[in-house]
Amino acid sequence: MSLLTQEHELARKTAREFAEKYVDPIVRKMDRENYYPRETIRDAGELGILTPTVPAEYGGGGGDLRTAVVVLEELGRISGGFSLLVEALGILFADAVNKHASKRQKEEILPKIASGEKIGAFALSEPCCGSDAAAIQTAAVRRGGEWVINGHKMWITNGHYADYYLVAARTGPREARHKAITVFLLKRSNCVETSQIEVMGVRGTGTAEVKFNNCAASDDDIVGEVNGGWKVIVDTLNVGRTAISGVAVGIARGAFEEALKWARNRELFDRKLIEFQNTQFELAEMYASIETARTLAYYAAYLYDINSPGFLIMSHVAKLQTARIAVDVTRRAVQIEGGFGYSKESKAEMFYRDAKILEIGEGTNEVMKYVIYKLIEKGQ
Ligand SMILES: Cc1cc2nc3c(=O)[nH]c(=O)nc-3n(C[C@H](O)[C@H](O)[C@H](O)COP(=O)(O)OP(=O)(O)OC[C@H]3O[C@@H](n4cnc5c(N)ncnc54)[C@H](O)[C@@H]3O)c2cc1C
Repeated sequence: MSLLTQEHELARKTAREFAEKYVDPIVRKMDRENYYPRETIRDAGELGILTPTVPAEYGGGGGDLRTAVVVLEELGRISGGFSLLVEALGILFADAVNKHASKRQKEEILPKIASGEKIGAFALSEPCCGSDAAAIQTAAVRRGGEWVINGHKMWITNGHYADYYLVAARTGPREARHKAITVFLLKRSNCVETSQIEVMGVRGTGTAEVKFNNCAASDDDIVGEVNGGWKVIVDTLNVGRTAISGVAVGIARGAFEEALKWARNRELFDRKLIEFQNTQFELAEMYASIETARTLAYYAAYLYDINSPGFLIMSHVAKLQTARIAVDVTRRAVQIEGGFGYSKESKAEMFYRDAKILEIGEGTNEVMKYVIYKLIEKGQ
């Protein structure tokens, strides 16, 4: 049985051609200048690549989670940053809106996001709390028939350029933790203040601090139920953790291809580097790891697509392992390139820095292990 169908392979072809034609020319600018590729995002929107799982009626790609994984893999092979920003936009924001928002919200927002005309961001983490997201402090309080939101979000991908935010806010006492959190869909206005953060890798993704200063929201801006935000957050992250596994596979493949090219050309001791068996073994190890990562990512997505209860644990296994593999493969790629691999001229160097976020963002490796063990305890 193949985990992928012809449709997935078609999506791969489209994403690969797009990445090579439109993303490759700007990848170094993104990395060196922290340049946010606003126009290229619009180009991706035209092809349905930005929101692979959003239904076609809203202008999305109309695919399943495997489609998203394959698209993100192909984008990640060229640019970890571009792939990550598409994952945050297309899955953490748009897929979540599609699954949890009202028809009115979807009709108003999704076509603009899918086309790349507008940008959306998923704003959960705060300076106080990333892993311990149930402790967030951003608060929404009722005042004169509306909600007033105040708080400080941190590390928000696309956050500096976003037109819409899915904002997790406390709507009850701190002690109630996850039972008193509500998600709002906020349009950017003067009450939102953002500042870009200089990050180590996945540069050019508009990672930002986002402050909400007395932002007004109505009941219609709520996504899901009042105090029911935790379900929206957890559902979204469960899907995101499989999707970001596709980013990891792509980054690892990109670095592998760079290292292979280098080893075939580099001459030392009157031989090509590739002729040394150690180099061949390294490349074989990297290849085997990438295929392992890929199988895990596709399998987790497949379980989601067939609505299997096994998805939950596998999504966390895939996130944990693909992140580790991406860090390991990119480190080996730098090693194969020697001094060049340590220079800013090397793409392997960029992929190595890009890969590290995979062990932190959307839940750290430790959080993955925490969830996996909880699920083992539950007998899943
Ligand atoms: C580039 C980038 C993009 C991001 N994009 C987004 C985004 O779009 N939206 C968003 O909401 N957030 C985003 N994040 C935030 C990200 O999800 C958090 O950084 C991450 O969840 C970790 O939270 P923290 O930074 O607060 O670290 P902490 O939670 O403070 O963790 C610090 C360390 O403690 C470890 N730890 C945590 N719990 C335990 C435990 N129980 N036992 C042992 N060790 C533990 C962690 O694994 C970690 O090693 C992004 C972050 C970065 C860097």
